[in-house]
Amino acid sequence: MAKKQRKKIVKERPIATKCHFCETKSIPDYKDYQTLSKFVSDRGRILSRERSAVCAKHQRAMSKEIQRARFLALLPY
Ligand SMILES: [Zn+2]
Repeated sequence: MAKKQRKKIVKERPIATKCHFCETKSIPDYKDYQTLSKFVSDRGRILSRERSAVCAKHQRAMSKEIQRARFLALLPY
């Protein structure tokens, strides 16, 4: 009987190593949906902090702004 092949766990690497909003000294804004779309997966989900490398303070603000942009149909649900 063939051995069961284990699924390889591919660790998702962060896009950046530093917080984008701290580096650019900006705050997440729903009007700036082009930048917010970088932190949304292709399925429309908000990326986790491990993947987006955004700090806790900005991640909290970012998710609020993404939800605002979604309501205004700037970003997909
Ligand atoms: Zn930050």
